[in-house]
Amino acid sequence: MTELSNLQFDAQHLWHPYSSVKNPPLLHEVISAEGVYLTLDDGRKIIDGMSSWWSAIHGYAHPRLNAAAKAQLDQMSHVMFGGLTHDPAVSLARRLIAMTDASLQHVFLADSGSVSVEVAIKMAIQYWFAQGKTDKQQLLSLRGGYHGDTFGAMAVCDPVNGMHSHFAKVLPQHLFAPTPTCREDAHWQDSDIAAMRSLIEANHHQLAAVIVEPLVQGAGGMRFYCPQYLRELRSLCDQHNVLLIFDEIATGFGRTGHLFAYEAAGIVPDILCLGKALTGGYMTLAATLCQSKVAEGIAADGQGILMHGPTFMGNPLACRVACESIDILLESNWQQQVLSIEHQLNTELSDLSAHSLVKDVRVKGAIGVVELTISVEPFMAWLPAFIVEQGVWIRPFGALIYIMPPYIISTEQLSQLTMAIKAIVNKVSESVKS
Ligand SMILES: *Cc1c(COP(=O)(O)O)cnc(C)c1O
Repeated sequence: MTELSNLQFDAQHLWHPYSSVKNPPLLHEVISAEGVYLTLDDGRKIIDGMSSWWSAIHGYAHPRLNAAAKAQLDQMSHVMFGGLTHDPAVSLARRLIAMTDASLQHVFLADSGSVSVEVAIKMAIQYWFAQGKTDKQQLLSLRGGYHGDTFGAMAVCDPVNGMHSHFAKVLPQHLFAPTPTCREDAHWQDSDIAAMRSLIEANHHQLAAVIVEPLVQGAGGMRFYCPQYLRELRSLCDQHNVLLIFDEIATGFGRTGHLFAYEAAGIVPDILCLGKALTGGYMTLAATLCQSKVAEGIAADGQGILMHGPTFMGNPLACRVACESIDILLESNWQQQVLSIEHQLNTELSDLSAHSLVKDVRVKGAIGVVELTISVEPFMAWLPAFIVEQGVWIRPFGALIYIMPPYIISTEQLSQLTMAIKAIVNKVSESVKS
């Protein structure tokens, strides 16, 4: 009996994100990665336009990140965080506290973005519980939002495309405001926030927190909205005693052109979730930061214990790499890199808005989005192979073809990505016509 190839074995035994064992997804096998390139098993090198789900901001196999991981491995890979502490975790907390607003003073190190959202939700509910406000256990989020795949996080994702129908009876029932529509502060109209205001006014007695992705709604639809919405939301939350959680798992660490998206609005959330680019895409780690008011509020009742503590909390290997990734970012000219990417994306993608299959072209920071008038899902049997033939890695979903490249990408490499986007649009357009 001949042994199954990796792809054959994978198809029979491995789940991939949102995949079916009956109809396994088309896959490419990666054997190594360096800079912006992924090397496939057939030797092809393709440019990663996704930064491995928005995380590998410095590119792959970065010498400093590799060295940090290797050095930490020789020291200790992991040790429990209950009753023990270590320099990698403390150093990371120092950096996160120093680089975020001065009011964010407490850090919970979580194992993934979804878990950091769970922790944020627990913080908000426990905060009110400790003040005797046991009715304040509901959350309010935005339609079109995405906050993760675990149950608590899933419950605040978009109620229509966010998997709610599968789990209706076990998901907590939360409230949803319409997707913000204002693109620029200059076009602000009070009607943009009216529905959110009504929901807060009507439900604040039950509301623990509002949770949103500031400026950019990511996996729920790659939509951008204006900072004024966030300023209005901050003041509504203050007026009505509701905490404000910003999920910056996608927007954090420079992606929008601001180190953190809340900076664009000049306001600060009570609780902040970070993940994805935290370790420069090396391994899973996330963090939930909160203001002293929240941390002290939770501690105000009898025991005041924050009820969370995963096995791999504060993993030293991940924390050390995160410290190095933050140092690389802050020592680099990331603002200029992101600005140049934004400028080039605007220049090279704008003519697509005239294409009959294109509904919208939008760019913010190092994020470029082409929204089609139709979904690409019917073409996913051949589209990934076509994309790889263009020498790039882009993963469209729904009607969206988007890229979030590593910040270190060169002008030529970025052009290759935008040319590939055009090739994809044309190819899909042809197959619609035929
Ligand atoms: C990716 C993402 C999450 C979930 O993070 P995981 O590490 O995949 O659990 C949550 N919120 C936002 C905004 C994200 O982009």
